[in-house]
Amino acid sequence: MSLYLRILGYLKPFLPLFGVAVGSLFLYALFDVFSIALFIPFLRALFNPADVAETGDSSVDQLMTDILGRVIDLEGSPETAVRGIIIVILVAFALKNLFGFLGAYLVARVDQGVTRDMRREVYSHLLDLDMVFFGRTRVGQIQSRLTHDVEQVRQLVTKELAKMISTTFEFIGALVLMFAISGRLTIAAFVVLPGMFLIWGPLLKKLRTRDRSVLNLAGDVNAHIQETLAGIRLVKSSAAEEHERGRFGALTQDYYRQFVRAERLRALAAPISEMLAAVGTAILLYYGTRLVIYDQILSSEAFIVFLVGSTKLYSPVKYLSRLPATIQPGLVAAERVFEFLDAPVEIRDREGAVDFPGLEREIRFEEVGFAYRQGQPVLQDIAFAAPRGSVTAMVGPSGAGKTTLVDLLGRFYEVAYGRISVDGRDIRDFTVRSLRRSMGIVSQETVLFHDTVRNNLAYGAGDPSDAAIQEAARLAYAHEFIEALPQGYDTMVGERGTQLSGGQRQRLAIARAILRDPPILIFDEATSALDTESERLVQRATQRLLEGRTVFVIAHRLSTIQQADQILVLTDGRIVERGTHAALMETSGVYRRLYELQFPDEAVLAAPESGSGEGT
Ligand code: ADP
Repeated sequence: MSLYLRILGYLKPFLPLFGVAVGSLFLYALFDVFSIALFIPFLRALFNPADVAETGDSSVDQLMTDILGRVIDLEGSPETAVRGIIIVILVAFALKNLFGFLGAYLVARVDQGVTRDMRREVYSHLLDLDMVFFGRTRVGQIQSRLTHDVEQVRQLVTKELAKMISTTFEFIGALVLMFAISGRLTIAAFVVLPGMFLIWGPLLKKLRTRDRSVLNLAGDVNAHIQETLAGIRLVKSSAAEEHERGRFGALTQDYYRQFVRAERLRALAAPISEMLAAVGTAILLYYGTRLVIYDQILSSEAFIVFLVGSTKLYSPVKYLSRLPATIQPGLVAAERVFEFLDAPVEIRDREGAVDFPGLEREIRFEEVGFAYRQGQPVLQDIAFAAPRGSVTAMVGPSGAGKTTLVDLLGRFYEVAYGRISVDGRDIRDFTVRSLRRSMGIVSQETVLFHDTVRNNLAYGAGDPSDAAIQEAARLAYAHEFIEALPQGYDTMVGERGTQLSGGQRQRLAIARAILRDPPILIFDEATSALDTESERLVQRATQRLLEGRTVFVIAHRLSTIQQADQILVLTDGRIVERGTHAALMETSGVYRRLYELQFPDEAVLAAPESGSGEGT
């Protein structure tokens, strides 16, 4: 129940609009019934021209004659009367369709409003969620919640709700009309209704299980295609084409069989209810004829209109009985969306957190430990100090915990024990935003948005002037190649003909960081090989970037390593060695081994004489 209420909650801002929509749907149903009922006087004019102005037996008849009598002249010649009735019928149809349009249009507006709001809410929550969440949730899942699931909920909230309401109106309208014509006959019409529910019930249940397995199989087929494409190299190099063809063949055959089974059931539903409706109509025909001819308590024109009305009775019944199956996917989707919205944001500002005042003396890791999963420590007893303006380089094998260490500094994750302090103050005392604002992060992969070069550079830097942007680009050795792009700084990144090389992307990232001018810099050097010229420019740009900042660098390059004030060597989440390049090369520890492995050529040169890493 709370699920329904929560879903309906999304309608709240649109209540007035939705109210008007429902009103329109009501008027639509009203004019629908009215236009049908108008056929009673019309048919009488046709069959008994002399009696047009006479009041029939049923209350509808009286009402219609009454209404018509006010707008047209029923007493005159039958011809004028019929002409008048036809015009009124036309007007009734026009009004019915006008309200039909209004209802459909307003429902669509509410519809899209709900989707927009829900999508915004999910997206906004997505931005707030912690890295922990993104670590354990697959991107595909997140995407499908934002698109597919929200869409399903929307269908539920508006389309189905509106349809339910209008169907109910239609049902009631038909019922009122029929009752007004003849109560007895209406009761007779209901004889077959229980039968309908009885047949639909079990049928729907079965259909639901079959539909579900069809959906699952469709997912399997898709997943198989996707996985084959992702691993196409492996498939080909293993000469496994026939094997894959066979597996895919079996899978699609399964899908085919399930689908046909489900469709057979669905196809059965229509004839069954049609037959039941026919039985109902047969009963009506028989009983109605008796009332008209023998008992003479029903006029033939009213009876005909009654029959027309009764056809309106069965389709709402069919729809309403099918409803549980129709809304099922929407409810499941709503649960998934809410689950997502309820995922807690764990890294928040403490009570009384203050803005980060800046770094005066040092950043200190004090016996810090961390684990992504309980019992599997990733960092243990990390302790070191990074004085203001120093460069701390982290080296070590892949998986040693270097990235995790700098992520803790930006509070993307919270330390498990120990603390990280700035000038003696725990970083958890500062607001997350202000702390991250004072940090620049240049990661291995340069993230560029689909936007102009200018906007990509200015990202996160507020609203810098063109001069500032160009100055930063110059410092990062990026200005020249940007100017050479088709539209210079206004070139869209990533559009055809403006693919940037690895080195250019890196220099853009460096320019971006220079523009933001953060006092603390986290620099994850790219490992991808660049050509010599490009490498030289990136190195120079890096040098400029590091100047005057407190830097933490995950180092892969000779130059940054040698420039570092201290090098921390990490293995298996612990600092195993520390010191300057020269000092560490004196020992015969991990660092020296790593270094000689990574730079077999330079090692010989660099070892005896430190500090001249650039060497070009
Ligand atoms: P490095 O940067 O030195 O290569 P990382 O800090 O990336 O090392 O990783 C350290 C360890 O933590 C590795 O064993 C890695 O598998 C694990 N790890 C990294 N990120 C996550 C994550 N989001 N969830 C779970 N484990 C992770």
